[in-house]
Amino acid sequence: MILFTRAHEGRGHWQDRSVNDHDLELLRRAIAISASAREHGNHPFGALLSDPSGSVVLTAENTVVTGRDVTGHAETNLVRLASATYEPSELAAYTLYTSCEPCAMCAGAIYWAGVGRVVYALSEVELYRLTGDHDENPTLTHPCRSVFADGRRPTAVDGPALEDEARVPHIGFWVDGPTDGG
Ligand SMILES: [Zn+2]
Repeated sequence: MILFTRAHEGRGHWQDRSVNDHDLELLRRAIAISASAREHGNHPFGALLSDPSGSVVLTAENTVVTGRDVTGHAETNLVRLASATYEPSELAAYTLYTSCEPCAMCAGAIYWAGVGRVVYALSEVELYRLTGDHDENPTLTHPCRSVFADGRRPTAVDGPALEDEARVPHIGFWVDGPTDGG
């Protein structure tokens, strides 16, 4: 079932793609990983990598708090694992699924790894609505597509999708955020 097709804006070289049932299944797994990250004392973000057949080969949680590492975002953690295992030429056929749109740092990491496609659930703009100017997550609302647009090799992007489900692990987490209304 094709849920929607998103025409990509800007001057990038993405192809129009669609989010299919398998994409949604893997996005839900990424959202479940984001809930696990919260249970483990970190920020609620999760990501996974699928091979060209759609099988999950790697998963990663946010580890910013427990790892005392501000670069410990789920996608950057995943890219560290992926680039230790696969060449960029291989990763061009792989897809990274993430519970939230990659920030500029993670998009850069994804680009350098050569991952060919990104599918995300919650947009950075929606994340900012949840976090506000929270000290632990002063959200960087730069669209990941804008980062990829400046690259020399194509990165396909699909999202947002399943935003209502992706919000759930964030509920009550960013309680100190100024946009939290209660
Ligand atoms: Zn990030």
